[in-house]
Formats: sequence, C-alpha cells, structure tokens
Amino acid sequence: MERLDMGKLFEHLLGVRDLSVCGASFEPQGVVVDVEPRQREARCGVCGRVCPCYDSCPPRLWRHLALGQEPLWLRHAPRRVECPQHGVRVERVPWAEHDSRFTREFEERVAWLAQRMDKSTTCRLMGINWRTVGTIIERAVEQRLDAH
Ligand SMILES: [Zn+2]
Repeated sequence: MERLDMGKLFEHLLGVRDLSVCGASFEPQGVVVDVEPRQREARCGVCGRVCPCYDSCPPRLWRHLALGQEPLWLRHAPRRVECPQHGVRVERVPWAEHDSRFTREFEERVAWLAQRMDKSTTCRLMGINWRTVGTIIERAVEQRLDAH
C-alpha cells in the first residue's frame, strides 16, 4: 500500500489550485497549513501584472473552510511588489482576493449561505461576525459585476 504523502493529502483536502503545502501544525486558532503559490513570478495584487519584488511581508493567515471541527488557516509570507501603476503592493496570491484574509472558497460558501439563510445563522455556522458577512457579500457582488 502506498503511504500517504501529507503535503499531497493537504493539497487535495484544501481543494485550492495552484498552491503547494509545505507543512501543517496545530495552533491555538486551529490547523495552520503553510503554503506557497505554485507560480514563482510576483504579480501586483491589484492588477495581476508581473512586477519586480520590493520586499517581503511577515507571514499572514487566511481563513479557509473548516477541516471537520477544526478551523483551518493558510499561512504564507507574501512579497511586496513595485507596480508601475499601483506602487508598492502586496503580491497576488492564488487562493484569495486582494486585501481579503479569507480564501475564495470560504467567501463563496459565506455568500452562498447568506443568500439562503438569515445573516445571524450564517455568522454562527461559519464562525464569523456580522460585519465580516457584509464585507464578503459586497466583494462577491463586486466580482460578479466586474465579470460582466
Ligand atoms: Zn498593479
């Protein structure tokens, strides 16, 4: 029988494309998975243009869908790039929108639930506050408008 490769297992469980898992640990806030984007060139977080690196940021966390009962977070230290149009910005990561600390999958789940149940039930189910639900819905609406 083939042994499970933990990195591959997490990549599969996360269901997020274009990232590599470097490690995982239990921490007070839940399961924290260290990830790296697959793409190596740095892109502006706002426009996606390939830009020269400026410096790097300390590691940050993005909330992802829970793994069973455990809250799950992606951890990565993004770089900052110097974009000719937008100046010094944090690079784009494949799992989240610019300026969001939630993964796209998490935001999509919140937006989907919020259309089908009241806001306080969505908050309780996803473990987030009222204002966060509002921010996520606004972003989801903006993206749909941008896509047309
Ligand atoms: Zn830019």
